[in-house]
Amino acid sequence: MTTTNLYDLSPLDLERSLADVVSPPFRIKQIEQWMYGHGVTSFEEMTNLPRELRASLAERFTLDFPEVVETTPPASDGSQKSLFRLKDGNRIEAVYMPMGDRVSVCLSSQAGCAVGCTFCVTGFFGAGRNLTPSEMVGQFFTIQQMYSEPVERMNVVFMGMGEPLLNFENLIATLDILYVNLAPKRITVSTSGIIPGIDDLARLPRRPNLAVSINAPDRKRREEIMPITKKYPLEGLIAAMKRYPTERGREMTAEYVLLAGWNDSPRDAIALAKLLRGVHAKVNAIPFNEDPNLPPWMKRPSDRAIDTFVETLVEHGVPVTVRRSKGRDIAAACGQLRGRTEPRRKRTA
Ligand code: SF4
Repeated sequence: MTTTNLYDLSPLDLERSLADVVSPPFRIKQIEQWMYGHGVTSFEEMTNLPRELRASLAERFTLDFPEVVETTPPASDGSQKSLFRLKDGNRIEAVYMPMGDRVSVCLSSQAGCAVGCTFCVTGFFGAGRNLTPSEMVGQFFTIQQMYSEPVERMNVVFMGMGEPLLNFENLIATLDILYVNLAPKRITVSTSGIIPGIDDLARLPRRPNLAVSINAPDRKRREEIMPITKKYPLEGLIAAMKRYPTERGREMTAEYVLLAGWNDSPRDAIALAKLLRGVHAKVNAIPFNEDPNLPPWMKRPSDRAIDTFVETLVEHGVPVTVRRSKGRDIAAACGQLRGRTEPRRKRTA
């Protein structure tokens, strides 16, 4: 008999499933408190439940998270990456990133990625299955417990391995669980530009922040490093960003990986500013993290080139942040830690 992992259910489905086996109803609230408030992984930890109820729950359900198998030493900025092993042997990554009085946790949504961006190690290793809600919230709760972080300090970004909008249903259940503790404005979903997924996200009553990986100021160059552009053209993507509702005080992010001599000139910055005209977004410039699995022509720009690019954007009225060193020394770009522990092989397209 297969048992249901309760962390795979949205809070609403959890209540429905427990209603058949748990009474009186206040016990369900207690279970939710242990799960969403403490991230427990066994019914034995639910010490205010009667022993018989704990035993009967354990017969029907599980509370499993993926297991951490490796954590990098802290980088100079304090960020650390953890490698998790899933039940079926797949491995995924999550990153803990302290940022002043806040902490961001970067989560994976798939155990690989079929989108195949050429600057990305996860894309290099090819497609992987969708993660379940328990595997996604499990990364969050495990990292929260590892660092004893109060949840009020935490932000979440789905920018690890995988394309979250290609795992839409599980993503929505995961967001519903995270919303128990975090306001939607503290969660960001980053996409390579899956236009129907962006529109589906836009229709939700509670919307996370949206980040879109742009990476080139024109369609031709974007197609070279992001083949998904052939299916979802850049112009259509910009239109979808314009349609995405942003509440007061919130804005989208246009992610832009800076590659030396390829998309980092002042002219590119001007073209990017023009492309984003009318989009309520700031640019997050991400100097490329070099990796032996990726094309050797892809290099990190000099600090001077990065500064000039950023200044040009600012001069053209585009707000911009730079992820200059976040985790640079811990292989923090998506898939890099797993990539270093994986045998070298060719791209699986
Ligand atoms: S950057 Fe994101 S969407 Fe592109 S291949 Fe990597 S994981 Fe997939």
